[in-house]
Amino acid sequence: MMKIALIAHDKKKEDMIRFTIAYEHVLKEHELFATGTTGKLIKEATKLSVHRFKSGPLGGDQQIGALIADNEMDMVIFFRDPLTAQPHEPDITALMRLCDVYQIPLATNIAGAEIFIHGLERGDFKWREIVRAKEDE
Ligand code: PGA
Repeated sequence: MMKIALIAHDKKKEDMIRFTIAYEHVLKEHELFATGTTGKLIKEATKLSVHRFKSGPLGGDQQIGALIADNEMDMVIFFRDPLTAQPHEPDITALMRLCDVYQIPLATNIAGAEIFIHGLERGDFKWREIVRAKEDE
């Protein structure tokens, strides 16, 4: 079971809802986390159970980043809006930076996220369990 963070900026929330509905059968096998509003919308639209953090602009991205730093997150699906300035831009940059520091798979749009879903189905991310087990030693 993978720990997966789901985040969508406002103009991408509709995409996130469609994505989670379409892949509910895959996502339900994993432990899901989300920023506040994204999580609320996913819960309303699906039967998925989602742990919700604060809203992104209020620190949700940083909360997810903290889990990455503790090696407690296996994948980040982050539908970013590249055309709108975000008040919490530094937090967004920091979150993506931590994904790169810890080699956490990060998809920032639906095209990449669909590949991740197929990877999840095939077990392509099992190496994360090995990394996590090593960390726990
Ligand atoms: P939200 O946060 O899910 O609470 O809207 C995401 C964001 O906009 O950063």
